[in-house]
Amino acid sequence: MTKPQSREFEFEERLYQDYALKSRTRLIIILSAILYASFISLDWVHAPRELFPLFLYLRLGVLAAHLVLFLLLGQMKTNRDYAKIVITVGFFDVLGIAVMIYFLGGFVSAYVQGLSIIIMGSVIALPLSFRDSGLVFILIWASYIIPSLLNMPSWKANWRNVITNLFFLTSILIIGSIGSYFMDKLRRRELRGRIQLEETTAQLQESNTKLKSLDELKTQFFANVNHELRTPLTLILAPLKAVLEGRMGKLSPTHKDTLETMQRNGYKLLKLINNLLDLNKLEEGKMRLRLKSVNLVDFIPPLLASVKPLADQKQIRLYCQNPPHPVDLTLDPDQFEKVVFNLLSNALKFTSKGGKITVYVEEKDHTVTMTVEDTGIGIPENMLETIFDRFSQVDGSKSRAQEGTGIGLALAREIVLVHKGSIRAESELGRGSRFIVEMLKGEEHFDDEVLDRRSEDLPIGLKRRLSDTEEPHVQDIVTDFRRLQLVDLEKVDIEGGRVDQAKIHDALILCIDDNPEVLKLMKMLLADEYDLELVTSAEKGFVFLREKNPDLVLCDVMMPGMDGHAFAKAVKKDESLKHIPIILVTARTGAEMLAEGMQAGADDYITKPFDSTELKARIRGQLRLRQMEAELSLVNRNLKMRTSDLVEQQRSLFLSTVKSLASAIDAKDEYTRHHSTRVTEFTVKIAVKMGFSGKELGDLELAALLHDVGKIAVPESILNKPGKLTDEEFKLIKEHPARGESILSPVIELKEIARIVRSHHERYDGTGYPDRLKGREIPLGARIMAIADTYDSITSERPYRKPASHRFAVKEIIGCSGTQFDPEVVEHFLETASTFVPDQGQDQEEAAKEA
Ligand code: ADP
Repeated sequence: MTKPQSREFEFEERLYQDYALKSRTRLIIILSAILYASFISLDWVHAPRELFPLFLYLRLGVLAAHLVLFLLLGQMKTNRDYAKIVITVGFFDVLGIAVMIYFLGGFVSAYVQGLSIIIMGSVIALPLSFRDSGLVFILIWASYIIPSLLNMPSWKANWRNVITNLFFLTSILIIGSIGSYFMDKLRRRELRGRIQLEETTAQLQESNTKLKSLDELKTQFFANVNHELRTPLTLILAPLKAVLEGRMGKLSPTHKDTLETMQRNGYKLLKLINNLLDLNKLEEGKMRLRLKSVNLVDFIPPLLASVKPLADQKQIRLYCQNPPHPVDLTLDPDQFEKVVFNLLSNALKFTSKGGKITVYVEEKDHTVTMTVEDTGIGIPENMLETIFDRFSQVDGSKSRAQEGTGIGLALAREIVLVHKGSIRAESELGRGSRFIVEMLKGEEHFDDEVLDRRSEDLPIGLKRRLSDTEEPHVQDIVTDFRRLQLVDLEKVDIEGGRVDQAKIHDALILCIDDNPEVLKLMKMLLADEYDLELVTSAEKGFVFLREKNPDLVLCDVMMPGMDGHAFAKAVKKDESLKHIPIILVTARTGAEMLAEGMQAGADDYITKPFDSTELKARIRGQLRLRQMEAELSLVNRNLKMRTSDLVEQQRSLFLSTVKSLASAIDAKDEYTRHHSTRVTEFTVKIAVKMGFSGKELGDLELAALLHDVGKIAVPESILNKPGKLTDEEFKLIKEHPARGESILSPVIELKEIARIVRSHHERYDGTGYPDRLKGREIPLGARIMAIADTYDSITSERPYRKPASHRFAVKEIIGCSGTQFDPEVVEHFLETASTFVPDQGQDQEEAAKEA
């Protein structure tokens, strides 16, 4: 048999079993037998007398079959076997009726009603599958049809009755089939649902068992923590206490300071473990109360007195408001003290300087309330419920302003709850919070099982815990209960963080951490090698950074206000600070954290707890890197300076060469001697009128001085030719502006000058050479120089003519304004032209002549 079949088989078995098929089968056989026997009376009335003996034997035979099947039941194993027996009973019943129908005239026989009874019975009484009932129904139908067909004559005689009987029987069969189909479906669906439910329940039970065993493991684990963590920790703290008390010799202030830091942090850890253990005990229901009647009016003040030094440190005022009469309450004083301490220490933690804390005790008919009210930061409304959950904190982000684990209030609530009291918080954000503890009067409400009825009556701190017996020292530490409760509120003094005001080391390091103890540790590790500045916030660090420009910053990541990442980002954005290397210090590890830090611009990263060698190595690495960078940039600056010196030298060398070239040209042409110098003088005068100054003027001056440098390539014979020049010669002369440009352009700084030189023979109307530039396409310098050049040519002697007068030259230039020259430049020329001639005598003569 394949697997799915066997599953189907099992399912059917379940189905039959759920309907108690086995017991039903017995009942059905008996009922069927009784009915079959009782119908003998009907035979007596209905059947023809001669048939009665036959019918009697028939019925006895069927009854005998019932008996046999009944006896066989004992042999049957499965439900399916029982179903087969039921079907067989039906078969014999039907067979008997079939024979009787045959003898009673077939189709018209009234005994067909017996078949209807069997159909009804099988649908109602038996959880038969649709398949099985189908089989039974076919059998029933056949048992009517076959004997009737065999006894045809009477059918022919009374065909109306035949149709009626056939119709009824078939209808009942159809109704029965539909009925059994739906019944079967329903039964199966119901069973399937039930099986699923059973499976789920089983699974639930299994996980429940697992959870239970896990829970036991957890409890076991906590018990182990008790021993494995608390014992070694107290074994550290106990001798430390002795050392600090001076029982092992005198301590230097530095040693004392360091040992105190160790002690404080040991206490913090111990408090955390104790709280966790208490909370676990409470949740396990293992906390036992040692009830006592306590007058709250006397109970609260000593507790307030013990937090007073801390409140004074923070300049917070403490008040207590009691009724004038005693307020008695039955409670476990040791446990209740923890509630009060937790509320007080939270109030101290979350209230800033100058604030106020008040404890009210109020008595009502059946209850007493104790309220701790502060003027601190307050709690958001949506958190008022959840703060009592384990590990819940209002500001759980990495910028928490206060240390804490979120256990205090959970513990307080559990303690109040075992006392059958209630605790709730009210608050106005920014204004303050109020924690209200409501306790029932009397002691009837205490469950018997939470009471510790042992006779010893020591405060909880002094009670020996089972695990402590073998270590006597441990006791002293665990009993330092109040110290433990308040240890994380103690402010650590980091004043004098600077080792010395005078600089005594090569590098100054700024250390930023909101935890003063970490700062103290850094000081201890680094003070002998570096100058240090210790600050408790990134904001303060920033101010210091601007004022003192330290060589490196060590900065904690998780801090209230500006955190390490934000700090690094801000520093790296600031041009004047970004060179300062930042090493971030974090307690969190992981690639994500690293990536975040690096993105913020941190130069390096170190994780807590850090090892002093690693810390120093990282610092040294960063400082060396920075030093190398500084040295490199110095070398770079020197190199740049040297290079620009060299360039300058080269330029002046070149210029002096070119200048001597220019004077060589002037010398080449005896008529144009000093031409370049004069053109330069005139050009500068016009340019100054036009507003030229600085480098622009310098460049133009140089351009004017060198404007004819290209003539170096023109033979002297042509330059000095007295007669008219041939076309060929003129062409050669016209090449000099372009040649001048190509002599000057290799030197980058002279590029602009070269351009002016190239264009000094261009004409304003675009008919000049070499490029036929027009109007403003011609560089302004060249437009100025063209006028100066023309003026000098007209007024100086040439091989082919005598020098003309100043007036003449001016007239000529005015005449060419707009064609050869830029009219605007001509105007400026006119403004200054009178200064071109030192002696105007000749002009005056000419003017007189003209007049
Ligand atoms: P924690 O160790 O963090 O102080 P608690 O369970 O004592 O744990 O407190 C849970 C949180 O409830 C605190 O982190 C704080 O956010 C908030 N809280 C408790 N008391 C006060 C208070 N007096 N003022 C403001 N916030 C408070």
